[in-house]
Amino acid sequence: MMQRIVTILAGAAAAVGVMVAAPTLTGHPFSLPGHTADTDLAPLHASRFNSDGHPTQWATCRISMVVNPDGAPAGALSLIREAAREVSAATGMTIRITDTDSTLTPAASYGVKNSGPVIVSFGVPGQVNVADHTYALYTGRVGAVNGTVVYWAGMLTINTATWAPLGAGSDGRGQQLGTVLHEMLHMVGFGHSTSPASLMYPQANGISGITDDVTANLSEVVPSQCRRPH
Ligand SMILES: [Zn+2]
Repeated sequence: MMQRIVTILAGAAAAVGVMVAAPTLTGHPFSLPGHTADTDLAPLHASRFNSDGHPTQWATCRISMVVNPDGAPAGALSLIREAAREVSAATGMTIRITDTDSTLTPAASYGVKNSGPVIVSFGVPGQVNVADHTYALYTGRVGAVNGTVVYWAGMLTINTATWAPLGAGSDGRGQQLGTVLHEMLHMVGFGHSTSPASLMYPQANGISGITDDVTANLSEVVPSQCRRPH
């Protein structure tokens, strides 16, 4: 049995990914006729690097999420399940909702095991740790396994004050799905893109699916034993 030496790094909240609500959008870049997405997408990198220069990754291929359903808008859980399936299929990681528990707080996720859980919670600013101008936020936690800093757990928080109304707009469910996919890709380990045509652009850009820059840069972020060929 492999010995695991585990340390939770105090104060090591990392990989904060903020999705900024941007009301002045100019449309969906992928909808333009003849548009070739690849040429417009900047390289996508990991959101965090260890002191030796290697990207921070999960120690396992499996990420468990536990949802605190308090305050969740109707349909939110099925949408999160759909996003988890899409990110799993695109990356090779196995991302699942393993439980719902309204008593869980983010602190409960720390130091449990090296595969999470990631706590998913809903609320308005003041109730949960999200700013007024964001749809959602992912904050990762790192720990050390056998001397290597790895992702350990995290918090995926949805600002219901901005996210719920997204669902009423044009392609509402797609736009809600896009924000959750974006945060889940932070959870896997991707950082932000400088390209407005990327799902990982930090401002809302109308994109509701996983863009090619994610699948083209899996090798930096996803552990080799987990990756799916593309
Ligand atoms: Zn982000």
